[in-house]
Amino acid sequence: MRELNTIRNRSVFMTKLALATLLSFGVMIGSVYAEENIITVSHVYVDGEYIGTVKDKSVIQDYIDRKISEKQEKFEDYQLAPSKKVTYVTEQAFTPEYDNKKVLEEIKQEVAIEVKTTALQVNGETVAYLPTKKAAETALQELKTEYTDKSTQIELVSNTNEKKDMKPGDSVVTDINLSEKVSYSEARIKPEQVMKIEEAVEVLKTGDKEEFIHKVKEGETLEEISNFYNLSAEDFMLLNSTLSLGNKLEADQEVKVEQKGPYVDVIVEKEGMREETIEHDKKVVETDELYIGESEVKQEGSDGKKEIRYTKTIVNGEEKETKIIEETIIEDPVEEIILKGTKQKPSRGDGSFVWPAVGGIITSEMGQRWGRMHKGIDISGVSDRTIKAADNGVVSEVSYNDGEYGNRVVIDHNNGYETYYFHLASVSVEDGEVVKAGEKIGVMGSTGNSTGMHLHFEVHKNGSVKNPLNYVSN
Ligand SMILES: [Zn+2]
Repeated sequence: MRELNTIRNRSVFMTKLALATLLSFGVMIGSVYAEENIITVSHVYVDGEYIGTVKDKSVIQDYIDRKISEKQEKFEDYQLAPSKKVTYVTEQAFTPEYDNKKVLEEIKQEVAIEVKTTALQVNGETVAYLPTKKAAETALQELKTEYTDKSTQIELVSNTNEKKDMKPGDSVVTDINLSEKVSYSEARIKPEQVMKIEEAVEVLKTGDKEEFIHKVKEGETLEEISNFYNLSAEDFMLLNSTLSLGNKLEADQEVKVEQKGPYVDVIVEKEGMREETIEHDKKVVETDELYIGESEVKQEGSDGKKEIRYTKTIVNGEEKETKIIEETIIEDPVEEIILKGTKQKPSRGDGSFVWPAVGGIITSEMGQRWGRMHKGIDISGVSDRTIKAADNGVVSEVSYNDGEYGNRVVIDHNNGYETYYFHLASVSVEDGEVVKAGEKIGVMGSTGNSTGMHLHFEVHKNGSVKNPLNYVSN
């Protein structure tokens, strides 16, 4: 077109030259008349299509240039251009017809000022326009960064050495992928439609409305469902044309709803190492070396430790899947072994008695006291209030008497002897229970008729009271 334009201009120049030559040869009147009626006009074409003629192409070009410079002020970094190609053909003619105003109006209608941009496409569909391809790539990079743990490096680790050097608690990003195919293409659009990088990131994250099925819960109303998904009643009905507003919904009924979902998911793969405790087992071993009711720790247990190498898939910042790829035991757990006694306790005493308290002193001996017989000894001043069976035997009585002995335990040693324990704060054996010498039967107290905390202890032989001091000593 431009080429043609130049040729035409040249031919116009030649015509002028010819006329000038004629003039100088004196064909005065006729030639002057002719020159006054020959004028230059510009035919205007939009994308190669003729739309009209103007007196001078500057009428159109000035308008376009002015529009571009106006926009350029606002969008200074952009590459602006008319949306359609405007070309001109200049011609000299006798009494040509032209209409500046009409053609300019046409141009205003037809030609907009646009910008050359990069369209960011997801699965072939444009979701954002950015000023440059670099800006579109940056938007995607920022989207990825947003869903990657900021503390871990973004550079992908494929280096096995770096994985080998991991300590518990370490993790590295091994891959970052997008769920959809992203591509770029050139596009010319109005500059107002171009997005900033952060706007494009937001669009990618927020995405578009996606349709899916909602299963109605018991008693759920149509209004509750549409509110939950931020749908207007009209939109809800458009999606569910078979329903009408008055319909009652049934449980498990399926209705269509839509909710915004991201255009692309950011899938981050991570590999890491963590430490885990291996809990130890507890084993109970029966032994006849211990009496029934007795137990002993034969081996202290302790937990073990293991290092676990794992991979993790994180979609849009949410952990979706963890896989264990290697487990290394660092420390084996140690089983706890507890011995449990099976040996029957001797229910018959051997006649050698043990001191029935933990230390202490005798505060009152057996004998006449306050005009009556004191049938045992009183022991007090202990640091540990445990009361012990004086010999093997069977508990023959556990009773309580408020006015006299308080909590009382009697043990029959099945060899003619019985021992009595008075004023206990609490009793830890039952009637009929087999106890062995030294075994705890209760706690020293001051129950019953007692002036202070002490144990009153008696020894009986074949029904008659004996002096305990002949049998026990501290
Ligand atoms: Zn007493």
